[in-house]
Amino acid sequence: MSSLTVTLPDGSTREMPAGATAGDVAAAIGRGLARAAVAARVNGAEVDLGSPLPRRAAVEIITAGTPKGREILRHSTAHVLAQAVLELWPGAKFAIGPPIDNGFYYDFDLPGGASFSDEDLERIEARMRRIVGEDQPFAREELTRDEGLALFADQPYKVEIIEGVDPTEGAAGGSVSAYRNTERFVDLCRGPHVPSTARLGSFKLTRVAGAYWRGDEHNAQLQRIYGTAWESDKALADHLRQVEEAEKRDHRRLGVELDLFHFPPEIGSGLAVFHPKGGIVRRCMEDYSRVEHEAADYQFVYTPHLAKSTLFETSGHLQWYAEGMYPPMEMEGATYYPKPMNCPLHVLVYKAQQRSYRDLPLRLFELGTVYRFERSGVLHGLLRARGFTQDDAHIFCTPDQLEAELASLLAFVLRLLRTFGFEDFEAELATRPEKYVGDPGEWDVATAALRLALEAAGVPYVVAEGEGAFYAPKIDVHIRDAIGRRWQMSTLQVDFQLPPRFDLEFTGADNARHRPYMIHRALFGSVERFFGVLVEHFAGAFPAWLAPVQARVLGVRNDHDDTAAAVVARLRAEGLRADWTPGDEPLGSRIRRAKLEKLPYVLVVGDDDVAAGTVGVNARGGDRPERGVPVDAFVARLKAEVDTRSAAG
Ligand SMILES: [Zn+2]
Ligand SMILES: [Zn+2]
Repeated sequence: MSSLTVTLPDGSTREMPAGATAGDVAAAIGRGLARAAVAARVNGAEVDLGSPLPRRAAVEIITAGTPKGREILRHSTAHVLAQAVLELWPGAKFAIGPPIDNGFYYDFDLPGGASFSDEDLERIEARMRRIVGEDQPFAREELTRDEGLALFADQPYKVEIIEGVDPTEGAAGGSVSAYRNTERFVDLCRGPHVPSTARLGSFKLTRVAGAYWRGDEHNAQLQRIYGTAWESDKALADHLRQVEEAEKRDHRRLGVELDLFHFPPEIGSGLAVFHPKGGIVRRCMEDYSRVEHEAADYQFVYTPHLAKSTLFETSGHLQWYAEGMYPPMEMEGATYYPKPMNCPLHVLVYKAQQRSYRDLPLRLFELGTVYRFERSGVLHGLLRARGFTQDDAHIFCTPDQLEAELASLLAFVLRLLRTFGFEDFEAELATRPEKYVGDPGEWDVATAALRLALEAAGVPYVVAEGEGAFYAPKIDVHIRDAIGRRWQMSTLQVDFQLPPRFDLEFTGADNARHRPYMIHRALFGSVERFFGVLVEHFAGAFPAWLAPVQARVLGVRNDHDDTAAAVVARLRAEGLRADWTPGDEPLGSRIRRAKLEKLPYVLVVGDDDVAAGTVGVNARGGDRPERGVPVDAFVARLKAEVDTRSAAG
């Protein structure tokens, strides 16, 4: 009897009978693997577990709990969603249903232009559970293009997709594949899929939204249903808890509750105003950044918010970044643009004089506000706005200095992030893409220097081969916040475009002219975005050094008010931020209000304290107040916490 040879990812081989499938391989390896399997990679291509293997097959089983496995579970669940909707709304048209981060969606066109309500989600979910209970197989069908067009004749969106299939590919006239679950339900799809609907079940539909066919507002408006799906009920429950926690921490909501900032419609979308309390947090962030930059030998510059179009033509922004720019303004025969980046303006500072190698490295720093056009649909509070301030620096250095500069820059970045309470870093090193400007040898030098910096800093990193910008290799530093979410924060880039475009030079020790390296670097990225991330990371409970009010003093009764006011005066004299509320209101409700404001400390003054010069200290999150703490001792403690910028408080 003929057999086939399977090579497993660990390099071992296995003989299997002819006609064996990837699913058989999983079963032969072990029951655990067979249970976790959702699909397979055979000779590099993703296939269904049930598809027969070729004579020589490198087989990798895709399991449910992996990113790829989850993608397959999610997309398979999207098919079940489509089946449920088509059963409940006869005549509905269905468009596309891809997996997305943490879930999936499917777009529908309901008869008579109807839309889904939130109540419909429950009904659809119940029908989906029935389909899962029916253990329907996902059976793959290979079709010619014409067969596909006939099969989906009453589904215009599917027809449009099939019409887009290249007729020279696959079978004569092109081929498509479909997955059939029942006589009545079949979906156009490349696959792979789980073997049957019984493999699914840990899912939940989350919301409905409008969406345009192919994302184009000139096309039909469709109804989109979003859902999430996981490999187990536990993973689903963990995810839903995480979402709930994230909602509680949403900086847009806390921004209003804690009176930090808002987006007035009178100003326009994506443009925030900071209120006094948010202003204190922001000023503390910026002051800290200034102090650190000064200590690291940066020179501070200021540049305007507008510049002539000619500057952005020279810099190339009008060629490759025009879509991200605000529209131009005409004035006295010239065209001006709000700046989308500070770089070209800093370049002009460099060019203001003849530079010698003795001037380098020249590190220019600015808290520079930039304006970028973002579609209103993608704006997201402070995390994605149209106007924001970068803690932006550009470093001009000699080739010899590049390596040391990058290493110290990265160390600087990490020190700053740690101060804000982030400990868990991952970096991405993005290298030269296929299309690039500059000299490949210089790219290699810069990429090697970036890599060395990562290794010196001991940051775990992945290499994103070919993912650099066309003008620069770069390091992106990602952090994990208090609830495990990953955020991209700081960026370091070595630019190969602006120095030649602006013909930057320095005079070397050899008295000849050389081109400097130019590094772009933002630590916070955008101050506003970093602020938003901090609000979510701390859930609005800022550590004392950032908190708008560090301590509130409360007398137990009105006759303690004078003492409370005196304690506040003492704290303020020490440069601490304190306030008090009079004893007209019951103490309990004043303490509750202070808790809602997430203040680091609430100090209570009672009869004994007046005589002894003490306070009762309620630390945020502490279980019981400390009584009889001498005011001096508390002042020293809070000052130490603020001076060390303790992120724990
Ligand atoms: Zn599919
Ligand atoms: Zn820049």
